[in-house]
Amino acid sequence: MTVCQSRFEVVMASSDWSNVVRPLSANPTRMAVMQLQRQGGVRGRLVASQPKVQSIGTVGQDFPPLASWLAIALPNGSAPATPDDWISRLKPRFAQLCVILLVGLDDDRAGWCGWSVERGVVQPLARFCVIGANMLELDQISDATEAAEDALRWTRTIEAVGGRATHDRVRKATVNLIGCSRAGTLAATMFTALGVRRLTLLDGDTIEPHNLDGMFLATPEDIGSNKAVTLGRRLVEFRPELAATVLPRRFGVKLSEPALEDADLVVTCVDQDGPRLRAARMARQQLIPHLDIGTGVRTGDDGQRVIAADVRLLLPGEGCVRCVGGLGDLEAAEYENWAPPGALPLRGSQPWHAAGRLGSLITVNSMAVATGIQSWLDLLAGDLPGSIWHRLRWQIGGSWEVESGIVGADENCTVCSHGQRS
Ligand SMILES: [Zn+2]
Repeated sequence: MTVCQSRFEVVMASSDWSNVVRPLSANPTRMAVMQLQRQGGVRGRLVASQPKVQSIGTVGQDFPPLASWLAIALPNGSAPATPDDWISRLKPRFAQLCVILLVGLDDDRAGWCGWSVERGVVQPLARFCVIGANMLELDQISDATEAAEDALRWTRTIEAVGGRATHDRVRKATVNLIGCSRAGTLAATMFTALGVRRLTLLDGDTIEPHNLDGMFLATPEDIGSNKAVTLGRRLVEFRPELAATVLPRRFGVKLSEPALEDADLVVTCVDQDGPRLRAARMARQQLIPHLDIGTGVRTGDDGQRVIAADVRLLLPGEGCVRCVGGLGDLEAAEYENWAPPGALPLRGSQPWHAAGRLGSLITVNSMAVATGIQSWLDLLAGDLPGSIWHRLRWQIGGSWEVESGIVGADENCTVCSHGQRS
């Protein structure tokens, strides 16, 4: 532990970043300011929004006394790059949280540095991350705890995911998983095996005999135990360094879930549309990519079995489960999200085999989960051009048919366009 412990990290949407970088590149004597919103988690995550490019004269007096704000500049080589110089220029007020971010400091313009200033305390910024297509992530200080975990464990993984920089992002990631049943078990296992550092598991259901077909980490003795608790226990046996947080409760559509808001990825492996829509809203507000995995086996129109999955990795503001399609009953999901507490459900609950549903298969579940997580690895490597939808279908007697495409936001989507708090 050092005296000057790095504390805050700043995230912003790639659309906002483009709106900042273009005018600043054209005119380096200007700067951009953005509002910052603190998140509830342990990491000091600050979400930046509402960029404004203006002259360098903006100072702390221009903001309310308790405001949190970000100043971004692309100084040329002759400009000093010390925090004291920028603090004397920007004059943040004592109780404000001001973050100064300087980008493009080297000859190749790839360098960066940043500091936070609050109540007279100056700290280097830990991380700066642009969330979205061709994601950019810049880390200032590597964490000493990284070295403690057996490096040999990852020798087969590092180059396979695209190199050390990508694997470092995996290992620093916090992933929140909503739904810990069949697909959720597979997803949690893969994230743990890849090296994700923190995993939050949420599920309110208990294990029943019919879950043992696909929840392969659960044993007959676990029947009656909570799914998230059981999964978390087994994952930590598999990888003792994993920081697993277990929330043995339902993803209530009304209550706020601060424990879920501090994440690098939110994953939904649930059957119901209400929680998926709510997760999409939360992901948009907190600038978290959302991986939604839906699988199933049902009877097709021709009476044949349909073994299929839909997997979507959706970037904030670049499409969501509401606007790209895929919610079976949008009206009921919206109602569930907005109806007052205690309101009767819009529709009665349906048995599991309603609407031609035949069941669940670990084969299609594992294909779907692996596909989604591979797209997330592409995102971390900076290789994903945008939100992506994979549709998988097993041709009985043949092979997998996979259709994949980049999707974007509907301009009228209330989640994508208005999700960010103002
Ligand atoms: Zn949307």
